Amino acid sequence: MSLNGKIEELKEKNDAVIVAHNYQVGEIQNIADFVGDSFGLARKVAELDVSNVVFCGVDFMVESAAVLNPEKDIIHPEPNATCPMAKMVDLDELREYKRKNEDVAVVSYVNTNVKTKAESDVCCTSSNAVKVVESVDKPKVLFLPDRNLGDYIKRFVKDKTVDVWDGYCGTHDKTTKEDINKALDKYPEAEVVVHPECKPEVVDIADYVESTAGILERAKQSDTEQMIIGTEKEMGYRLKKEAPGKEYHFPGDPTCQNMKKITMEKVIDSLENLEPIIEVDQELSRKARRPLKRMVEIGRGK
Ligand code: SF4
Repeated sequence: MSLNGKIEELKEKNDAVIVAHNYQVGEIQNIADFVGDSFGLARKVAELDVSNVVFCGVDFMVESAAVLNPEKDIIHPEPNATCPMAKMVDLDELREYKRKNEDVAVVSYVNTNVKTKAESDVCCTSSNAVKVVESVDKPKVLFLPDRNLGDYIKRFVKDKTVDVWDGYCGTHDKTTKEDINKALDKYPEAEVVVHPECKPEVVDIADYVESTAGILERAKQSDTEQMIIGTEKEMGYRLKKEAPGKEYHFPGDPTCQNMKKITMEKVIDSLENLEPIIEVDQELSRKARRPLKRMVEIGRGK
C-alpha cells in the first residue's frame, strides 16, 4: 500500500485528522487535511467533528487547541517542538507588573504558553492584534511577548498606552533591512510583504505587512512576478502551490528549527498510536480558555 493510502486508512480507522502550520515542511503539508496559520487552525480544530487531532506545529498551538477543545484528544507528534519566544515571558515578572499596574489589560499574543494565557485578559494572533488591542476597555495595555508585533500595534492604536514586553521571534527578527534591500537590488520590481514579527525597520520598507494567511492572500491578488517575503521560508511551499507563476524570495533564509522537529515518521507514529496526547491542567485550562475564546470571537482583521 502507498504511504498516502496507509495514512488515509489510519485516519479513518482512528477517527483522526492531521492539521499543519504553514511552517511545516512540504511533505507534512501534503498529508495534512488542513494547513493554516495559528488563528485558522484554532478555528478549524473547533469545527471538526472528530475524536483525535494530530497537530503539526509547536507547543503553544497544540496547547491552545487542547484548551479550546477539551472533548477532543489533541496529539503532538513531537512535544519538544517548542517556541523560544513563548518562553521569554517570566511569570513572576508578569505578576509583579500586574501588581504594580492594576488598571492594565494584558493582551497576549497566541504565541505564549498556557500559564501566560491564564494571566491574560485576551489573546490575539498577528492577523487580529490591532483589532484586539483596540477592543479592550482599559486605557493601558501590556502586550506580550513580541516587541516587534507590539511596535506594529503601536503604529495604529493611538488612544491607549501600550507597554511592550521585550521578547522576539529569532526567526523573523533575523531578517534585516539590508537583506531586503539586497533582494530589491536584484528584483527591483518585486513586491515586499513581511510578517509583523519582523523588525520595525523591515516593516518600514515593506509594501504590505501581513500574517501568513494575509501573505498568501496578497500573493493570490498581486500581479507581480517576483515577491520578497519576510517570514519563515517554508511558507514558500504553500505560496508556490496555491499562488503559482511567481518567484518567492526569502531574504536572510529565515528558518524555525522547532517547526522542523516534526517529521513524517513521527506524524505517522502519532496517527497509528494516538499519542502523545497533550494534557493541560484543568484549572489552567479553564483560566486560559476565556482569553482564547475572546480572540476567536473578535475574528480576523488588523
Ligand atoms: S517562527 Fe518564531 S514564533 Fe513561530 S514557532 Fe518559530 S520561534 Fe516561535
